[in-house]
Amino acid sequence: MVSGTVLRSHSGGYLVYDADQNSVFQCTARGRLKKERVSLLTGDRVELDEINPEQKTAVITARFDRENTLSRPPLANVDQVIIVQAVHQPEWTPLLTDRYIVHFQLELAQALPIICFNKSDLAQEEELQGLRRIYEPLGYFVIIASAITGQGVGELAQVLADKVSVFAGQSGVGKSSLLNCIEPHLGLRVGRMEHEFGVGRHTTTSSELYRLGFGNFPEIGALQKASWVGDTPGFNLLELRHPLPPEVVWQFPELLPLAHDCKFIDCLHIVEHGCNVVANLDKVSPERYASYAAIVADSQSEYKLRKDTSQKLDSSMKSVGGAHGKEKSVPRLSGKYRQISRRREKQGQVEELELEDEEAEEETETPVDDSDLADNVE
Ligand code: GDP
Ligand code: ZN
Repeated sequence: MVSGTVLRSHSGGYLVYDADQNSVFQCTARGRLKKERVSLLTGDRVELDEINPEQKTAVITARFDRENTLSRPPLANVDQVIIVQAVHQPEWTPLLTDRYIVHFQLELAQALPIICFNKSDLAQEEELQGLRRIYEPLGYFVIIASAITGQGVGELAQVLADKVSVFAGQSGVGKSSLLNCIEPHLGLRVGRMEHEFGVGRHTTTSSELYRLGFGNFPEIGALQKASWVGDTPGFNLLELRHPLPPEVVWQFPELLPLAHDCKFIDCLHIVEHGCNVVANLDKVSPERYASYAAIVADSQSEYKLRKDTSQKLDSSMKSVGGAHGKEKSVPRLSGKYRQISRRREKQGQVEELELEDEEAEEETETPVDDSDLADNVE
């Protein structure tokens, strides 16, 4: 049996890498997969058949179980997320870092994100140590790096070896520069791949996996088996995921024990008189608490919005099935419902989530927006 990893999808097909033959195949998905509504994402491990070694084509016949699924960016089987932030240019803002942290802790619960502060050449040592002092005691692995001086790049390379990693961070923080410090030919190699397999520039918004060589770190390159980096189209900050307001505190390890001892049930730990978190703010970094409060506020407005929308949707009924006079009136699938099922999404239970949505879809004939979960097989 031949198996491979989906490197990306493009109109009408998928590029799949087969490690045994060290080659890339242009694949289509067997019709049965579509019938069974099996979605395929970049990073999915798949079974191949009808392999044509000359033309480098094959047919995807099955998808193996996923270890996890990220929705933004859309990727399967990710090992870790590296949040890259510049110390300056663009100026570091704690809130943005913390927003990324919360988002990726929700997206990939199995591994804490790694935080890489880049452009250390633009900062004073004291400033850099200050950043470490905020995040290291919370359990995050912090890398201080510079693509200019090379500081921390070896440490980053080590972290990437034999893993599937995603780089996150707003544009301009130096993600590509850091990767180029590790593998100067990464860009070149990608260009060659496009050319060799004649796929042309893709215009979809799906993610792409690159094999990471370690050109500048041959000692790591020699030991690693396969290291991959997910390149993503980037996503709007408005798409970052939020927990429900009372659950934001779960994402802040320093607040959680304080919240646990708060005497109020349903406390948001912001202004309540007598709240145990508010009473202990001297033990918490002011930047982190400010981020917490801002994310609770975001979450409140997001879920209020959802509620308003779902109330409107709930009130609008939809007719389905049967000839004239025989159709049933059923409520549309509400945003609220979908939110609840998404909340139940845990690593490893995504299949169930998709099924839920699909069943609901059949019941109500309401189109379900699953664009954040997967590219459906065409
Ligand atoms: P990306 O959008 O995150 O991939 O960022 P790029 O790698 O394109 O870098 C954006 C800009 O920052 C470029 O002009 C880089 O030369 C510059 N840059 C990247 N890393 C560093 C660094 O460590 N120090 C300094 N001073 N500039 C950097
Ligand atoms: Zn409280």
